[in-house]
Amino acid sequence: MEDLKLASRNGKDSTVVFVNGVAVGKGFVLIAGPCSVESEEQLLETARFVKAAGAQMLRGGAFKPRTSPYAFQGLGIKALKILELARKETGLPIVTEVIDPRDVAWVSEYVDVLQVGARNMQNFSLLKEVGKINKPILLKRGMNATIQEWLNCAEYVLNAGNPNVILCERGIRTHETYTRNTLDLSAAAAINELSHLPVITDPSHGTGRPSLILPMSLASVACGAAGIIVEVHRNPKEALSDKEQALTHLQFADLAQRVRRLVEQMHDQQPEETWISSNYDRISIE
Ligand code: PEP
Ligand code: MN
Repeated sequence: MEDLKLASRNGKDSTVVFVNGVAVGKGFVLIAGPCSVESEEQLLETARFVKAAGAQMLRGGAFKPRTSPYAFQGLGIKALKILELARKETGLPIVTEVIDPRDVAWVSEYVDVLQVGARNMQNFSLLKEVGKINKPILLKRGMNATIQEWLNCAEYVLNAGNPNVILCERGIRTHETYTRNTLDLSAAAAINELSHLPVITDPSHGTGRPSLILPMSLASVACGAAGIIVEVHRNPKEALSDKEQALTHLQFADLAQRVRRLVEQMHDQQPEETWISSNYDRISIE
């Protein structure tokens, strides 16, 4: 395994990735919105709500990597135009997934963060392509990927020239079936030791169950994640994708408030600097 020349911690200070004034890697960032953009009314309603509840970025899928070819594939460019409207109205930076290397350059004109999804974590041509732009990249962990494989994918993006990588732990596949995936919070903590890049978690895909999203969001604060990305829908029953795991607006408002309270409490309880650095000193990745 080659060295992680650019992604590894290697004594570096933690990187803060700036997304239109939102600092990822400093404090705790809340990213929320529907799995998919379904209509202008749907997106704007949720965008206004999550903004009022304290979200700092808006998510919304335009190109959906669905397990079945017959499932809703996303509205494509129409969705990007709706996301643009939502940014104009709320000021929230936009996160959206890109699944085709040919779409990277033009899609990046519409949004603020390009997401590389779990199914594409090791799509090396996509990684090289997102490495050529200067917008931040949200790189999700593949559902079967080790931490080291995931960091190597970040290395691809950094090596191609884009230093603005945010990692996202979104759950891995284990023998467990009650939860959609197993949200590996130890991986988030490990990333903070192994890499200088900020890491957030996705408790929505990580659990697949609304009731588990709040506890996993709080646990994400506690384990040192730089933020969370969660799926919110004005009427989950009618969502065109991932309806089982979508939070209602009110559930999100409650979550945001509880997360904020914990962040404030944690602020006074940072681990001793010496503990952190001695821990880092002991860690090396082959
Ligand atoms: C999503 O964010 O809607 C998504 C498809 O995520 P993942 O790639 O983590 O499954
Ligand atoms: Mn989803």
